[in-house]
Amino acid sequence: MSEEKFDAIVVGGGLTGSAAAYTLAKAGLETAVVERGTACGAKNVTGGRLYAHSLKRLIPDIAESAPLERHIVKERIFLMTESGATTVEYGDARLQEDACASYSVLRAKLDPWLAERAEEAGAMYVTGIRVDKLLQKNGGVCGVIAGEDVLCADVVLLADGVHSLLAQKLGMKKALAPHHAAVGVKEVIELDEETVSERFGVAPGQGVACLAAGYPTGGAVGGGFLYTNRTGVSLGTVVTLSHIGSGAGVKVPDMIERFKAHPVIAPLIAGGKTVEYAAHLVPEGGRNMMPELFWNGVLLAGDAAGFVINMGYSFRGMDFAIESGRLAAETIIRAKERNDFSADGLSHYRSLLERSFVLRDLRHYQNMPALMDTRQIYDELPAAAAEVLCGLFRVDGSEPQRPSKLIVAAARSLGLTELLKLGAKAWGTL
Ligand SMILES: Cc1cc2nc3c(=O)[nH]c(=O)nc-3n(C[C@H](O)[C@H](O)[C@H](O)COP(=O)(O)OP(=O)(O)OC[C@H]3O[C@@H](n4cnc5c(N)ncnc54)[C@H](O)[C@@H]3O)c2cc1C
Repeated sequence: MSEEKFDAIVVGGGLTGSAAAYTLAKAGLETAVVERGTACGAKNVTGGRLYAHSLKRLIPDIAESAPLERHIVKERIFLMTESGATTVEYGDARLQEDACASYSVLRAKLDPWLAERAEEAGAMYVTGIRVDKLLQKNGGVCGVIAGEDVLCADVVLLADGVHSLLAQKLGMKKALAPHHAAVGVKEVIELDEETVSERFGVAPGQGVACLAAGYPTGGAVGGGFLYTNRTGVSLGTVVTLSHIGSGAGVKVPDMIERFKAHPVIAPLIAGGKTVEYAAHLVPEGGRNMMPELFWNGVLLAGDAAGFVINMGYSFRGMDFAIESGRLAAETIIRAKERNDFSADGLSHYRSLLERSFVLRDLRHYQNMPALMDTRQIYDELPAAAAEVLCGLFRVDGSEPQRPSKLIVAAARSLGLTELLKLGAKAWGTL
């Protein structure tokens, strides 16, 4: 058993951990990252779209240096029934401006790239070893036990993802509630670069982000996602744990199969080869599931702190992960200067988060999880939209249906009172 002392230890070599390690090492702090995967990126799952603002703040030249797949220039939202989909597509040059650029990414490439930047800055990575326990002394955290090794530090950053069992053991975080987490299943499908551009109607280097609700999950709260990579797509489904088995009772592994086989998706991925299959939990409670963010000698960031927002039309976790990792590191650097790693000394972290987009946006969208938890959005709404549009566009020689009648019938099928309640809830949230 060996014992070493660092200024800071980061548990987890995902985007949160490496953003923090890079910042700490650049400031000259002796930093160790312990990652249980055999390499950074091995255990990490994302749908695939990175809003790049926080990564750019960390490493300004990402457009040239980071392994970004495609610059997202079009948004598509599908309300799916079994036989079709109501599709909203939006593209606008204003969304392509540098300040709000977003890119499809593959974590198997992005995480090792960021870890390498942190290593170049001086951070030490230990991979393939899990931190099983935190060392405690004088009422605070002072290191970790990882396999045979005891690593001591002034401060430990828990960037260990959605469960953060270590934070749970410290009593800083509760076990995940089923309505605060979703399970995501994802495949990476390889296709020719030109085929992707042609099928999605974009120029080389440009990409599309698609989100879907309805048929894939059998109407259960959740949906499908698809992001174009340079040579292929990342696609999958997500369903809130408390809603598994509701709706049409579709099983979790069958949801992604329904999504892939859907008439709108199947032609886009025809002939593709699945090269990666993964499943992972996503924190979805937003601000309502936020744990204690710091204590004596310890901080939480990224998914461990529940910093994710699902707005239905967009999904953000990676930009929060990178920014909160950076801010946790800034807090540690300040604590080192003052030699104060107490909860009081580390409380600066909350001020930094409050001043950043992290807590501002989580507060702004704090009622979003309750809105997204509304079943009607996932079963009755796609069906009602399809009824109206099918009635409008279907011409078979029989008597045409009046649009007003179709709309009234659809509103009745949704339940007028329920519809008004949903409208009021959405208005209140947005
Ligand atoms: C299906 C799905 C789709 C998503 N889509 C998007 C999207 O399109 N856009 C977006 O911005 N976000 C998306 N997210 C969310 C985003 O992926 C996360 O917010 C982000 O990965 C969080 O990064 P992290 O570093 O905090 O956590 P993680 O990436 O989970 O990293 C935690 C790391 O800690 C390690 N670890 C855990 N415990 C230990 C231990 N005891 N010892 C050592 N190491 C440990 C793990 O191996 C892992 O590498 C999605 C998530 C999922 C699951």
